[in-house]
Amino acid sequence: MSYIINGKELALSLKQEMAANVATFTEKYGRVPHLVVILVGEDPGSVSYVTGKAKASEEVGIKNTTIRKEATISEEELLGIIADLNADDSVDGILVQLPLPKHIDSDKVIAAISAEKDVDGFHPMNVANLWLKQPCTLPCTPKGIIKLLKRANVEIAGKDVVVIGRSNIVGLPVSKLLLNENATVTIAHSRTKDLAEVTRRADILVVAIGRPKFVTADMVKEGAVVIDVGVNRDPETKKLCGDVDFAAIEPKASAITPVPGGVGPMTICCLMENTIECFLRKMEK
Ligand code: NAP
Repeated sequence: MSYIINGKELALSLKQEMAANVATFTEKYGRVPHLVVILVGEDPGSVSYVTGKAKASEEVGIKNTTIRKEATISEEELLGIIADLNADDSVDGILVQLPLPKHIDSDKVIAAISAEKDVDGFHPMNVANLWLKQPCTLPCTPKGIIKLLKRANVEIAGKDVVVIGRSNIVGLPVSKLLLNENATVTIAHSRTKDLAEVTRRADILVVAIGRPKFVTADMVKEGAVVIDVGVNRDPETKKLCGDVDFAAIEPKASAITPVPGGVGPMTICCLMENTIECFLRKMEK
């Protein structure tokens, strides 16, 4: 039996702490933080993420504006909206829900958001500062993973960590944050030879692939800590599931995150934290 790392519970308590803090802001600063989320098109996954972000904002007391645009919006029009929001002093955080339609260059859109308002931590300036260990806005999912590990009292320093996945959103930044915590980090990907051999060396295994139940029990060392970032539909049950075969690995791991209720709630929680940080940096300048 392993310890189930409950991201839902941790996110709830962190949101309550943030709400108590935000409740003092109107008196202190004259207003609360304002997050603007831009949703392009009607992809059901994106709609559900944007709804979750609005709900969390409400819980924490952050003002949330969602701008919905048709999937046919031109890149130029989208960049124009971002330029207006960058110039708007009443806006503290800007988030463009990804993925964007194919005719829009996501990298260009991300780079167009002011780095000071980039609550996702995806702007090139924030990415550079993460790798240079300079103050920056950290990407939400990797930041949430570190918080989960710390809350579960998992020792990171000196541990062998294997991260499967090397995306800009999860795999790469979480690897850097783990390195900052003094782990010995191996990054595996689709071209890694003998993946199971690599993952069996991990004291902490972070999986961010996007394939249902890809990681099986034989790929995990007895007593390892397993962090499952994946959000997938189980092809058989159609229920939400992670990248890890939870039922098979849970008895073997010392600690493991469930899906849902693990990393996901922490991502939204860290988005709220980032919005508050952007607001405070501006107010306390
Ligand atoms: P991504 O951009 O598609 O990257 C997937 C990574 O997995 C790539 O680096 C890829 O390797 C690697 N990969 C794919 N197949 C593999 C295989 N057979 N063996 C080893 N590595 C393999 O995905 P992402 O954005 O990082 O997201 C990963 C998962 O996390 C998705 O399920 C996503 O929905 C979920 N997610 C969850 C949250 C949350 O808050 N819970 C947040 C973000 C993402 P190559 O680089 O070689 O192609």
